[in-house]
Formats: sequence, structure tokens, C-alpha cells
Amino acid sequence: MQKLNTDKGLTFTRESMMLPLLIFVTLSASALGADVGCSHTSKGQPGQCVKKGCCNYDFQETSSSLCNGAGETCCYRGEKPSCSGGGSGGCSDIEFVSRSSWGARAGRGLSLMHTPVYDVFIHHTESAECHDKASCSARVRGFQDYHMDNNGWSDIGYNFLIGGDGRVYIGRDWDHIGAHTYGYNSKAVAFSLIGSFMNKTPSSTMLNTVHKLLACGISKGKIASSYGLYGHRDVNSTDCPGDALYNLLKGWSRWHARGTLPRTSKK
Ligand SMILES: [Zn+2]
Repeated sequence: MQKLNTDKGLTFTRESMMLPLLIFVTLSASALGADVGCSHTSKGQPGQCVKKGCCNYDFQETSSSLCNGAGETCCYRGEKPSCSGGGSGGCSDIEFVSRSSWGARAGRGLSLMHTPVYDVFIHHTESAECHDKASCSARVRGFQDYHMDNNGWSDIGYNFLIGGDGRVYIGRDWDHIGAHTYGYNSKAVAFSLIGSFMNKTPSSTMLNTVHKLLACGISKGKIASSYGLYGHRDVNSTDCPGDALYNLLKGWSRWHARGTLPRTSKK
């Protein structure tokens, strides 16, 4: 985490420009979806009835009474359900902590990401570590508060955070452009490991979760199988994700696999 190296101004500009696109995608989703439509009365936006737990940005999951099936719930604002076809596509070995479960505030006007992405950035939060769901959730809420209230961002910056407990805390999820790596936010996803990894490496539990989340992203078509893995410091002036973690990542199979630095989203 580093407040200066993400693109607050760019984010606002892009997000306002993306509004017509978001509306289009919303309309398309409801027009194309075989799922039964639903609407959230307080916001009046169209949505889709999907299997419960399958809203991939689930603070927008609303009362199941909006849908007919007992095991269904309403995803609205045109969010693509993450498992409307059934099954979680190679992600079942990950324990995700939904936004509602960690106590997220609602994001503000997020932009949809074009997937699959070809670049994945690893960050650390440069904070104390956490080792259980309660303490990790509290820490994630703190990051969200900081990103929204101090940095003025739309939501917590990262797509996902990985706790010392091995769980994955859902940030902006696969389908929303984050605020994490200046110049690359709209082309890449970011996983942030909770802790400070300058002088020590993350636990094997955390690292295994990173591997599983990469595999999960590929299986869901969110990350291209030819992706390249990078550290935040590869493109911005920062020591993130810490010397020890950065050096360890150099041994991973997709490290800088695209041969060059990732594609910038700056025109
Ligand atoms: Zn970083």
C-alpha cells in the first residue's frame, strides 16, 4: 500500500467516462441473461437471480425474497454472477471472505474491468499481520477506510487481499478496476498480502493461497494463462511488496513471463 502511487485523478476521470458503458453493460446483462431478472427497490436497478453466494461483488447481493428460488439471490447493477453456471471453477479450495462478511462499506461508482487480464501485481499492505478471520477482517476494513477517506478512492484499492489465515478477502473482485498500481489499474489485477515483507517472507499458507488464487483466476477466465507476474516496485517508485517477498516471487513460473514490463493503461 502506498497512497501516492495510485491514480486518484485518473480513477475519477475514467470512472466518470465509464458510466455510459456501465449502463450499456447493465442493460446487456439483463437482456442476454437466461436468469430471471430482479430489481432492488431502493436503487431500482436491474439485476439477475443467481445461486446464493454467486454475486461476485456481494455487498450488492440483496434479499433473496426478490427471487423465486429458495437458494437464489439477486445480483444487481449488472454485476456478472461468478457462478451462474454452477460450480466455482477451480476455486473451491479457497476460502473467500465476502465483502459483507468482512464488513465492507459500499463502493462508489466502480468501473468494470475487461478480462482476462494479462498482468498480475503483487503488493503487501506494509502493516501488521493478522492470523484469524476477525483480526484480518478488521485490518481490511481499516485499509478500506484509509483508501476511501484519506485517498478519496472509490473503494478499497486491491482486487483481493490475502490474510495470514490463508483466507482471501474480496476487495474489488475480478471484475472491477482497482486503484493499486499507478498506470496499470485497468489492465491488471492486484493481490495484496497483509503484512510487511521486507525482511521476512509470508508463510507457506499465504503463498499457497496466492498460487490457488492465480489458478482460480485462470479457471474462471479472469486471468490469461499466459499472464505475467510482477511486483508493485517493477513499475512504480516503491519498495512494495518488500524485499523478501519480491525476491521469493522471482522463482515463480510466471515471473515477468511476458518478457517485458506489463502493458500500461495510460494512453
Ligand atoms: Zn503496493
